[in-house]
Amino acid sequence: MNEFYEKTGYPRLVVDLEKLRTNLNVVLGKCSDLGIEVAGVVKGCTALIPCVEQFANAGCRWIASSRLEQLAAVRDAGIQTDLMMIRIPGLSEVEDVVRICDYSLNSEIEVIKELNRAAGRQDRIHKVILMADIGDLREGFWDKDEMLETALMVENDMRNLELAGVGTNVGCYGSVLATADKLRELVDIAEAIEEKIGRELEVISGGATTSFMRVWDGDIPERINMLRIGEGILLARDFREHFGYNMEGLNTDVFTLEAEVIEVKDKPSHPVGEISVDAFGHKVQYEDRGIRRRALLGIGKVDFGGNISELFPRLEGIEILGASSDHTILDIQNMVDEGRTLKTGDIVRFDLNYATMVYVTNSDNIVKVYI
Ligand SMILES: *Cc1c(COP(=O)(O)O)cnc(C)c1O
Repeated sequence: MNEFYEKTGYPRLVVDLEKLRTNLNVVLGKCSDLGIEVAGVVKGCTALIPCVEQFANAGCRWIASSRLEQLAAVRDAGIQTDLMMIRIPGLSEVEDVVRICDYSLNSEIEVIKELNRAAGRQDRIHKVILMADIGDLREGFWDKDEMLETALMVENDMRNLELAGVGTNVGCYGSVLATADKLRELVDIAEAIEEKIGRELEVISGGATTSFMRVWDGDIPERINMLRIGEGILLARDFREHFGYNMEGLNTDVFTLEAEVIEVKDKPSHPVGEISVDAFGHKVQYEDRGIRRRALLGIGKVDFGGNISELFPRLEGIEILGASSDHTILDIQNMVDEGRTLKTGDIVRFDLNYATMVYVTNSDNIVKVYI
């Protein structure tokens, strides 16, 4: 904290922990009915500790993130749940991965060898989950013989690693749908490994939020016993937006972004003067709709990541015209035409999507309020 200034006003992010708890209970309950344990993925909310505490208290078997500094902060906060690094680590990270995390997802033999050495130096056993790429084309073994060989090496030759299991990820880069058939490919790989090593794997990790739809529909292949879920708990928005699911009981408004109106004036809708480029060097088209009422908000692209189409005003009649680093411009003429308006000092509330949630939870400029 700065000695001269502690931010208290707006913009702020209101986090409804009760609604988050409800989402955790619904998702964990459904998974538990099918014998699935949940790794609570907290990178979407920058591992805000009061949120992570809800994940831990609700009974997530792991707390997971793609970022070591977030997992370190979770440990620092005294949360005892097993930690999992879900972005496959780089060589430069192995020492910290072993020190901070209990589990990590992996797909590179060079990194796995270094994890084994680091675990040896630290006198620990680190648990690895080998990732299979079944078509989404981000991380994971494509060549399944290479995966099998690596599994055997971890099992037989690496004294400081434990082969915890296998996992996969779909729906991230390649937009591949988590169908039951797709996920069965992972179970087949797991069973091939189990046959070679002569024991059952602890975990078969069947993906992220997109795989939760298989739980909802009850058609997830039986042996999958772990899902790594973030968005479906924090926002639960993609189910409806992208997949047409109406999941009864899940709140889509755990997070509310609040920004303050700092100017309200009637102005032309087309800029006046010679038109060049905006603050970011872009050529922009401006539509001339005559004089309209505008409201200016004290929040900008620095706070929410730059994409105004990913902020969703809760009030009707508001159109987001644009933003620069620290200002966001609203057209509120439609409100005015209905006999309503905004005035300086009013607070405008927004729903978020995943991208804006990541940015606003990460911004030190945004005050976090927990209710
Ligand atoms: C981000 C991530 C998840 C969680 O994704 P959600 O869509 O937020 O559920 C799971 N696994 C991996 C490897 C990830 O990177």
